[in-house]
Amino acid sequence: MGKYKIRYCRRCVMPDTKPDLHLDEEGICNACRSYENREQVEWDQRKQDLLAILNRYHSKNGSNYDCVVPVSGGKDSHFQVIRMLELGMNPLCVTSTTDKLTEIGRRNIENLKRQGVDYIEVTTNPVARRRINRLALTQVGDISWPEHVTIFTIPVRIAVQMKVPLIVWGENSQNEYGGPAAAADNNTLTRRWLEEFGGLLGLRVSDLVGQEGILEQHLIQYTYPSDEALAQVGVTGIFLGYYLPWDGYGNALFSQAHGFETYHQPVEGSLVNYENLDNAQTGIHDYFKFLKYGFGRATDLACLHVRRGRLSRADALMLVKRLDGKFPWAYLGVTIEEILAEINMTLDEFVQVCDRFTNKKLFVCDAHGRLIKDKDGNLTKINSDNLAEE
Ligand SMILES: [Zn+2]
Repeated sequence: MGKYKIRYCRRCVMPDTKPDLHLDEEGICNACRSYENREQVEWDQRKQDLLAILNRYHSKNGSNYDCVVPVSGGKDSHFQVIRMLELGMNPLCVTSTTDKLTEIGRRNIENLKRQGVDYIEVTTNPVARRRINRLALTQVGDISWPEHVTIFTIPVRIAVQMKVPLIVWGENSQNEYGGPAAAADNNTLTRRWLEEFGGLLGLRVSDLVGQEGILEQHLIQYTYPSDEALAQVGVTGIFLGYYLPWDGYGNALFSQAHGFETYHQPVEGSLVNYENLDNAQTGIHDYFKFLKYGFGRATDLACLHVRRGRLSRADALMLVKRLDGKFPWAYLGVTIEEILAEINMTLDEFVQVCDRFTNKKLFVCDAHGRLIKDKDGNLTKINSDNLAEE
């Protein structure tokens, strides 16, 4: 089988295999270019724009919430909520539960509530949920698919039901991680954004009906409100990261000072200890990104820090090579056996699914085209930096 030599951004370490990522003629990726453009942003003006929006939606007589803030309990949630409180808003915080909530994730949710907010947590039927986890893992290679759907649908549903028109999201992932320019500059989240960039991988909610005993009645919370319902309340969603300079690491420091708890070591498969602490399935999710595209969460994190001048490109490459894409034996201390048992899958079955979704062009294979793995099941990439002649 022909091999594919990955080209990496010459400024950060993002590979050109990432969907929607483009390297320009200088070999610089669009996420790095988008970050460059931040220098031109008039943040004072954007702050004024934000204040005008908040003022418009502020409940004048206090009879309803001023906004919905979708929260996971993570560093960004803390930042969003505390900023809203500082700006005089009365937010209703909404959590759509993760696929497999960790203990540290629960403690951080409790800490978030202690900032002084009303809070709603919506949990979808766990029996149906695990079937969807398994189905999404085997059909589109993403165990976290149901979570990616409900973190968008549930806060919007609550906004409609509670008649709170303003939803304050965190960052626009298309901006920081690289995406089409129009999508990166967008400051609102719509159904269209969700369908295009919400990570649904072409699997539609309606496709699930009839598979593995999943019925329409299991999917109520997975359904985005109708245009009519949205229009009736006038629901609009803004990205806070458009109006305030956004930095995940800065948000983590800020949140820690407000009681947010970090992990005691770098998270497995990642580079840092302060994010993605709430779902034990995330290790599997990140690993599949590595199998499909040759990069994992450590690469994402390294790029954020390289762009902000906190890590050299050379150090980033070394760290990524050591940390990225390791077989996910455990995540936040939860073993893969425990995670797989819940979705009714054996380790052997899991490895077969992994192999099926692995882009063999990116990894070292033997003479028969079979993936070469070390004793821990880890693969080796063909190239982890640009080749010398380029
Ligand atoms: Zn780059």
